[in-house]
This record gives sequence, C-alpha cells and structure tokens, in this order.
Amino acid sequence: MPEPLARQDTTVGRIGQPYVIPRQKQKRSRVMTSLVLIAIIVMGWRWMDTVQNRPAPAPEQSQTGSATVTGLNPIVAKKADALVAQTGKIGIKILITDDFRSSEEQNALYKQGRSKPGQVVTNVKGGASYHNYGLAVDFALVKPDGDVIWDMKYDGNDNGRADWMEVVSAAKKLGFAWGGDWTSFKDYPHLQMDFGYSIKDLQNGKRPPATE
Ligand SMILES: [Zn+2]
Repeated sequence: MPEPLARQDTTVGRIGQPYVIPRQKQKRSRVMTSLVLIAIIVMGWRWMDTVQNRPAPAPEQSQTGSATVTGLNPIVAKKADALVAQTGKIGIKILITDDFRSSEEQNALYKQGRSKPGQVVTNVKGGASYHNYGLAVDFALVKPDGDVIWDMKYDGNDNGRADWMEVVSAAKKLGFAWGGDWTSFKDYPHLQMDFGYSIKDLQNGKRPPATE
C-alpha cells in the first residue's frame, strides 16, 4: 500500500532531519555577528587612536614646565665666569660665594639673624629668591693674601675707584641686575638675571632659556 508507506517515510524523515534554522533567521544572525564585529573593530581602532594621540609626557628638565631647578642656569653661569675673567683683567680678584640655592638652603639662610644667630642676609624664604631658580650669584673680593672681604671701599687695584663698584659696573654690562640697587632690602653682593620673569612667574613654573 503506497499511502501508509509514504506517510511512514515522511514521519521517519521528519524525525531524522537535523535541526535547521530557517533561512530568514540565519540571515539575521549573520548580520548581527557582522555588526558586533564591526563595533569591536571600531572601538579598538578608536582606543588605539586615543593611545597614539595622547600627549607625550613633559621632559624632566623642560624650560617651560614647573621642572625643579637643581643648579645655576647655564647662561648665568657663563656670565658669572665672564665676570670673574673680566674683573681679573683689571686687577680685581673676585669669588662667587653663592650661586644656586635649594629652597631648603634658602629657608635655613632665612633663619639666620632671626631664629638662629648671625646677621640677616636675606628677606625671602625658600622659592622666593632668584638663587632658588639658578638665576643669581653672590660675590666677594679676594685680597692678594687670600682674604675674602666684603669691603665696598677697598681699592686693591689702586685706580681711585672702589673695586666693589667696578665689579658691579662690569656685571651690569654683562646683563646682571645688582641687589645694591634695591630699595627695600639692599643686597650688595647679589647679582641676578631675571630674563623678564618675576618670582611669581618662576613659582608658577615658568623657566628662562638654558641657552642664548
Ligand atoms: Zn644673592
């Protein structure tokens, strides 16, 4: 009998058939997979882009950043050397007694003549002196016998002019400003180059160039 057989076949066939997702569903799932993949690729690409475009970290000794100063500015150092050489030629020997001073050293110096014995030599605390940014030097005169003196009237080269003021005049020609010209606190051994920066600018991280 053909009919029951056919029915039987159909039944067998249905049971034995592997599960197949309908075409419509299959297509939708493939589209979804593609979208997820595209999203992952786009996100990954955007992440790479962010990483690549991240600004490079500022170098340690950046002249424009708030880098910590650890020594005399090279231009100031060069000018101080020139001052020693120039005054030497006119018979005046000078000694650079102080150049760069850390904030800690400045604070210790501030205590001198206040909470500690000695003469007051500064009226500013750490971070408020050009010495703290490597932009100042202090000088003294050296007598032929090697004595270091702060005598502003001494005329060792015997030309009728005080050696001290001859040094100051040479320093000013080199671009230094003299602490003896200050009105509030006269600092006679002090020479500085501010490069147009105020202490506030320096405290805010501005730094003058290291080369001319
Ligand atoms: Zn000084």
